[in-house]
Amino acid sequence: MLEMRTYKTQVHNDWCPGCGDFGIVNAIQMTLLEMQLEPHRVAVFSGIGCSGKTPHFINAYGFHTLHGRVLPIATGARLANPSLTVVAVGGDGDGLGIGAGHFVHTGRRNVDFTYVLYNNGVYGLTKGQASPTLPKGIKTKSMPLPAIVEGVNPITMAVASGYTFVARSYALDVRHLKQILRAGIEHRGSAFVDVLQTCPTYNDINTKEWYSGDDLPVKQARLYKLEETGYNGIVSDPSNGAEVNEKKGNALLKSFEWGDKIPVGVFFKMEVPTFEDQLAQRMPILKEKPFVEQDIYNRDVTPLLEELA
Ligand code: SF4
Repeated sequence: MLEMRTYKTQVHNDWCPGCGDFGIVNAIQMTLLEMQLEPHRVAVFSGIGCSGKTPHFINAYGFHTLHGRVLPIATGARLANPSLTVVAVGGDGDGLGIGAGHFVHTGRRNVDFTYVLYNNGVYGLTKGQASPTLPKGIKTKSMPLPAIVEGVNPITMAVASGYTFVARSYALDVRHLKQILRAGIEHRGSAFVDVLQTCPTYNDINTKEWYSGDDLPVKQARLYKLEETGYNGIVSDPSNGAEVNEKKGNALLKSFEWGDKIPVGVFFKMEVPTFEDQLAQRMPILKEKPFVEQDIYNRDVTPLLEELA
């Protein structure tokens, strides 16, 4: 029986006190524990930013990669060794700024792994500049003037890009986040989880108090759970184009809700063949053994060369 300490490391954590990142890492570790996934069966990848330190704190295989490049690297790892549970993490600046192209094309591929976006609206590691998700006109305390360009919507982008599991949760609701992460990991295909994350050091707009609705005329939590409203984003028949379009349309409409009421939960989910499934159709040898078990050093390429001659 694995225990919570199994997934913890001794690495000193230097995130700011009160950072929402603590909740996300706890939720990831709690999910691995709940699923009883052995550390050597899990690989956690990160981009650059405060969230990039995540693999340092989780006892599993880990790779702190390059700015905006976490998704292609996680894709490569998953394709090389499909027995791994792959979790990719990164901030909104990393994933939707320099990494935006990879974000879109990862959705198109439907590789079976989970991408967790630490979404705080700022570039925390570099002193709080506006990140891609900060709405136009918003000015956080580290900005001299309000954001001059429109923010992007991660849920809208994920649905439009083709992710087959699209969900949102909140870093300070670890129980809900754990449920969503487990659902994402168990989903066969590309799972995207937008995590609303508080950055108490630089984002003084979207604070814990703001999410709790302390500023509203009648105090009421801004976040509400889609599943408690009867919303159902799960496609029951992926071969039914009308149903797929309807569920995607509903998810897009929900993704635009932001302000006094903000939905969390599963926006869209559909089970279709993964990239790995399709690759194995093209390369039958992958059905016998994955890339990681193949002898790439002593491979006879003569038939390939003869084919090209
Ligand atoms: Fe967290 Fe913000 Fe501090 Fe980074 S700068 S560790 S996101 S509170």
